[in-house]
Amino acid sequence: MEPILLLVHTEADGALAKPALEAFAAALALGGPVTVGLIGREVQYAAAQMEGAAARILAVTGDAFAEPRYATDAAAAEALCRAAGAPLVLAAATSRWARALPGVASRLNGRIDTHGTRIALHNGVPAVTRWFYRQRMEGVLTRAERPWFVLLEAGCAAPYAGLAGETACPTMIDVAVPATRTTVQGVAAPPAGQDTIRPDARLLFVAGAGWTKKQADGAVHVGEAEQLIRGFLDASGASLGGSKSLVDLSGEGQAVLPFMTHLNQIGQTGATPRHPKGLSTCCHGEEPHVVGWRFITERRAVNLDPNCGWARGKADVVYVADAFAVIRKLNELLAAFSHRRMSLNAGGNTRAESPF
Ligand SMILES: Cc1cc2nc3c(=O)[nH]c(=O)nc-3n(C[C@H](O)[C@H](O)[C@H](O)COP(=O)(O)OP(=O)(O)OC[C@H]3O[C@@H](n4cnc5c(N)ncnc54)[C@H](O)[C@@H]3O)c2cc1C
Repeated sequence: MEPILLLVHTEADGALAKPALEAFAAALALGGPVTVGLIGREVQYAAAQMEGAAARILAVTGDAFAEPRYATDAAAAEALCRAAGAPLVLAAATSRWARALPGVASRLNGRIDTHGTRIALHNGVPAVTRWFYRQRMEGVLTRAERPWFVLLEAGCAAPYAGLAGETACPTMIDVAVPATRTTVQGVAAPPAGQDTIRPDARLLFVAGAGWTKKQADGAVHVGEAEQLIRGFLDASGASLGGSKSLVDLSGEGQAVLPFMTHLNQIGQTGATPRHPKGLSTCCHGEEPHVVGWRFITERRAVNLDPNCGWARGKADVVYVADAFAVIRKLNELLAAFSHRRMSLNAGGNTRAESPF
């Protein structure tokens, strides 16, 4: 197996995020010597986490390399690639690497493949698996050109779980800080708990446009819909997805579910998240939407229409029911569950089960 360079950026606290540990496990599984190339303000903690398994650790550090920015990330990655000289370069498909590494591949006259979901030996050479045509067809490809960069999607491999060493001595690579036009002034993020996109959640909860439509009494109940959906997300910890029809309504500035944006959209022109379970509500289950459920293992839907798209083989279970009534009842059950868990914990029982 040819030598591998795994590029890793640290997080703000100096630790490694799960996608980096997943990419590290995928690199180690190939069997070749793995050099790790770290970038960040400070990398000691991350280096100690990987030292036991990496053949070598190189690092570019300093304030200039702490923040995501194309110019500095590309300069650091280029220097690490030149120092390692590895023909195969892997990295997690974080927004930071997805932005910087195509340019680095070009600078090194290499090639890059993005959205890899697996890398493994195929007839003795590394081969990348990825999906084409909005996750409808899966392909396995190899390349003769080197260096070959591959970005690996999050959630496709078990993260590396080796024990961290006490200290590590990465080899520092000096990089002249390039001229930059971008100054990072801070990060604007929702307060903890108010973000609705939670990639690590066990459950994906999808809201469709039905939540904003006239109901049996001839009226719309958007206020109640918002309260029920927010209540369910808070109690269950689920990640929130939406259908295109629903997020388009929000984008038009109408007074409907203001916490939904196009970032929540699931489907052909939206995201294809990976969660063990999915629950669709008030969504018809059209093919352009359901294609985004490609990697949801167990699918359930609540729809008033027994002839909706979900009922035609797209869901494992369809509840023909009023989603307002179902979610209201679920929220009651979750509140009772949470109460029971608190009592068990107060009684010293730490083995309260998860609701999903
Ligand atoms: C090129 C292209 C790309 C597209 N990409 C995407 C995409 O990425 N993502 C996407 O989502 N769509 C996409 N679409 C649009 C898609 O085809 C559908 O139009 C859209 O998904 C419909 O959204 P919906 O099911 O929420 O709304 P609707 O079709 O309006 O369905 C609402 C559903 O709510 C149900 N309902 C109403 N009230 C209740 C209640 N009280 N309880 C239970 N059920 C209730 C109704 O029975 C109905 O089935 C794309 C279309 C095209 C042409």
